[in-house]
Amino acid sequence: MMDLAERMSRARPSAIMAVAEKAKQLKAQGRDVISFSIGVPNFLPGQHVYDAAAAALQTDSGQYGSNRGPNGLLDACIEHMREIGLTGYESRNCVTGDGAKHVLYNLFEALLNEGDGIAFPVPYWTSYFDIAEIVGARVTLIPASAEQNYKITPQQLDEALANKPKVFLFNNPSNPTGMVYDEREVAGLAAVLVKYPDTWIIMDDIYNRLLFDGLKYTNFVLVRPELRDRAIFVDSLSKTYGMPGWRLGFAAGPESIINAVVTLNSNHITSVNEMVNAAGIAALTGPQDITLQKCAEFASKRDQVMTVMNAIPGVVCPRPRGAFYAFPDISCAFGKNHGANAIGNDVEFCNAMLEAKGVAVVPGSAFGEPSAIRISYTCKPAELTEGLKRFKQFFAELT
Ligand code: PLP
Repeated sequence: MMDLAERMSRARPSAIMAVAEKAKQLKAQGRDVISFSIGVPNFLPGQHVYDAAAAALQTDSGQYGSNRGPNGLLDACIEHMREIGLTGYESRNCVTGDGAKHVLYNLFEALLNEGDGIAFPVPYWTSYFDIAEIVGARVTLIPASAEQNYKITPQQLDEALANKPKVFLFNNPSNPTGMVYDEREVAGLAAVLVKYPDTWIIMDDIYNRLLFDGLKYTNFVLVRPELRDRAIFVDSLSKTYGMPGWRLGFAAGPESIINAVVTLNSNHITSVNEMVNAAGIAALTGPQDITLQKCAEFASKRDQVMTVMNAIPGVVCPRPRGAFYAFPDISCAFGKNHGANAIGNDVEFCNAMLEAKGVAVVPGSAFGEPSAIRISYTCKPAELTEGLKRFKQFFAELT
């Protein structure tokens, strides 16, 4: 058999997709499955987005597009950033791609040689680790357990950066924990970043419009503008506008790194297609009421999830304040049994839960934290209520 490239020995399919696939299969077999697994917002964009895509179809140029993205879309991204306080960016500082995942992949490729260091907090979004492995980067994980509200401290960051990683990657609000670093906490970490001028900073803040409890989004550049010339902001339309399948994300930062991503685009995708670009402009510049309404809905679903988590003895669930995930530490179930199923770890927990209750959740080990599981709570209200009821029953039935 012909050999694959060595890097493929380190590549693996997304663990989140694997759970979602299993839940889908059970559903196809007629099982009553409630999925808390995949991180989708579960709403559709407004009519104006479809209208813009349809109009673009009618005027299709039939040509390849810009590697960076069309001017209208770049302007819309710049305006979108301005609304959250990120001013002074121009088209030359921006690039679009097939979703934030693709943009992040490009950034990893553009910044990291094999053996270069990248540091990020754990729990982390699965793809950070997986893409780092593919490009052969050396990962330094900065642990943030449930006891510390899944947030790293300035001291921990200082220790991690003392090893001189080339990149520090930060995600706020967080997938999988739903945690949000507030202004004081961001400023505390930024004060450390200032001390390490050779480290690039990637701010994957794609949930920046999904904050609860009146919290205001902030980031390192907003609190320490001097970090701007080595910080890259990443955003996506997937979660904010109910558009995960449309595949549109963007990044903004110093010209040198953004141009590198444009070059990679020119060799990977050439361009995002015209219909998606038009839909993206409409979403970014059109009415924001659906996003606001969904954010309020997610906050109330968060409350519902927390009521159940707080009622289960032994489960520790720091209160999420953004995105649409909860990340309860369920290690109190380890060493117990559910019926004939012994539960020794998070994967066995998830399998037993899916088998016994038809509730799909993602094992925390997919995010580097095997004491926990991730609940994505954007499903229909009746499903959420029923799923949480079954979740609670499952714990009550442990022996
Ligand atoms: N970054 C984080 C933190 C995410 O949670 C996700 C998707 O789940 C992405 C990036 C990728 O988003 P996109 O759909 O734009 O590729």
